[in-house]
Amino acid sequence: VPEIGVLALQGDVREHVRALEAAGARTLPVRRPEELERVDALVLPGGESTTMWKLARAFDLLDPLRKRIEAGMPAYGSCAGMIMLADRIRDGIEGQETIGGIDMTVRRNAFGRQVDSFESDVRLSGMGDAPYHAVFIRAPWVEAVGDGVEVLGRAETGSNAGRIVAVRQGRLMATAFHPELTGDFRVHHYFADLVRRATEQED
Ligand code: GLN
Repeated sequence: VPEIGVLALQGDVREHVRALEAAGARTLPVRRPEELERVDALVLPGGESTTMWKLARAFDLLDPLRKRIEAGMPAYGSCAGMIMLADRIRDGIEGQETIGGIDMTVRRNAFGRQVDSFESDVRLSGMGDAPYHAVFIRAPWVEAVGDGVEVLGRAETGSNAGRIVAVRQGRLMATAFHPELTGDFRVHHYFADLVRRATEQED
């Protein structure tokens, strides 16, 4: 059984650990480069991307994270984690860097300050027919994607209908919402399957 790390600098780490274990994965909180080296894959949790970035830099994790992702480690980011995996961001704070990996432009806090959080059903391709009840909290959206990026889901209600909120590029995936906060772990199952197939290919 592959071991999936959860970047544990900041954010809703425990919720992801619980969801991954429900999806049959082993987990390890990752705070140091040695822990990052051990894991087969990584989840970047929701939280605050500016804080996550500063801590990743302070803990000397930014370059090791970039190197492992370039080398093909599967990774999944939710919300702030989506921002961390974006090659380009809008409305970041001054100097804000990401890890990158997914050829997309993500806008922070895109759904508007007046709407701090909302819920919407989203159909996610490859994850069953039932709509996914998605929880958005000061969420980003994906403003543009490159050719290699598959759109997995779009917001379906209100003035923001059509906005891209779930993507995949090879072994990397990201959602603007928080599947770790609901009891529906289809996104974590999907990622755990992706990780299993990726580790089998390498054995
Ligand atoms: N607004 C946060 C950020 O910019 C993300 C919010 C979240 O992860 N729930 O990082």
